[in-house]
Amino acid sequence: MAAVPDHTEHSAALFDRASAVTPGGVNSPVRAFRAVGGVPRFMTSGDGSHITDVDGNRYLDLVCSWGPMLLGHAHPEVTAAVQAAVARGTSYGTPTEPEVLLGEEIVARTPVDKVRLVSSGTEATMSALRLARGFTGRAKIVKFAGCYHGHVDALLAQAGSGVITLGIPGTPGVTEATTADTIVLPYNDQAAVTAAFAEYGDQIAAVITEASPGNMGVVPPRDNFNAFLAKTCTDNGALFISDEVMTGFRITKSGWYGVDGVRPDLMTFGKVMGGGFPAAAFGGRADVMAHLAPEGSVYQAGTLSGNPIATTAGLTTLRLATDEVYAKLDRTALTIQSLVSTALDKEGVPHVIQAAGNLFSVFFVESEENAVIKNFGDAGAQVLPRFGAFFHAMLDGGVYLPPSAFEAWFVSSAIDDDGLAEIESALAPAAAAAA
Ligand code: PLP
Repeated sequence: MAAVPDHTEHSAALFDRASAVTPGGVNSPVRAFRAVGGVPRFMTSGDGSHITDVDGNRYLDLVCSWGPMLLGHAHPEVTAAVQAAVARGTSYGTPTEPEVLLGEEIVARTPVDKVRLVSSGTEATMSALRLARGFTGRAKIVKFAGCYHGHVDALLAQAGSGVITLGIPGTPGVTEATTADTIVLPYNDQAAVTAAFAEYGDQIAAVITEASPGNMGVVPPRDNFNAFLAKTCTDNGALFISDEVMTGFRITKSGWYGVDGVRPDLMTFGKVMGGGFPAAAFGGRADVMAHLAPEGSVYQAGTLSGNPIATTAGLTTLRLATDEVYAKLDRTALTIQSLVSTALDKEGVPHVIQAAGNLFSVFFVESEENAVIKNFGDAGAQVLPRFGAFFHAMLDGGVYLPPSAFEAWFVSSAIDDDGLAEIESALAPAAAAAA
């Protein structure tokens, strides 16, 4: 075993054991510290804004389980609701009341008429694509480079998140036939979309996009890109699918929809709506959703879909996520951005911070002159070694960031002034390390 500092010895030992039974020692690639090096921390508990690892190190958490923990960890009301639900029984394979309540909450918060619950964001986007193809009778789909929609075969083309973090070009195992109907275009590029529709317009079933991408770092839509996509789809008989797995119920009470108000034909959700449990959903126009089995003939199903524990956790989380909570998340995110900028400016480290509501990313750019990250290519041009040095110094300073330069930072409403002070004191040495 490689020598490691004492304070990670239990994580290191677990990582060795994990690597013996699990590829790369992790059950989802971005959890490994492949891009930044070092030992991934094995967490053992969370309380409010903090998580604690098996060596007893406590971190201010800016990953929040990659988004779901909007209210922080072990929120007492969510915990109590889940404990009560577990005590009654965990799964029946029948309809239950919590899934109706969660469905009603989603329909009330978003523009979807009907919703179907699933267990992961991947399932949600996969099912939305199948439904779009079944509804339109067309095969092709348009996606954007740098957007990540889960590990759906047809969407693993120039994908963001772990795919770009690990520098995986295409994905072995995804056949050419599977992606033959996938058209990948540069994000924020209206001319490219127009050209694709000019060539394949009557074959395109759907355009799928992250509502505001966060998987190549945060790269918001520019020049009303979503409205342009929605109109282009309508004009050509295709469906506009907005993937709000990351942004849904996090950026506003609905998601990015609450910011730009563009009404999609189909939407996908996940993360926050499960309150830390596996729950996700897709939904949309009633006439499109009517094509889904058992009402229609597009098949989709799941043994644990609408699981009563997951739906109870999600429902309780959403009910607690009030306007005041979103206002606090916005304030917290803005304060952190300003602390980061001040620290990096002090050390002369060129950077750009881009935000979509309370989601944001710090890009370590070559030069700040005209530096705007508007697509996958721009995001890929970062000075990656700076991020690695910054990440590790923050970790040593007790702040847990996403271990990748291509991810959003996630805040929770549990971060208070003490937490902000912890971030501020970790930032000074981290900025120096990145210089
Ligand atoms: N869509 C987006 C925008 C995501 O960010 C993710 C995951 O990060 C997914 C889909 C896939 O969700 P899951 O990891 O739950 O399968």
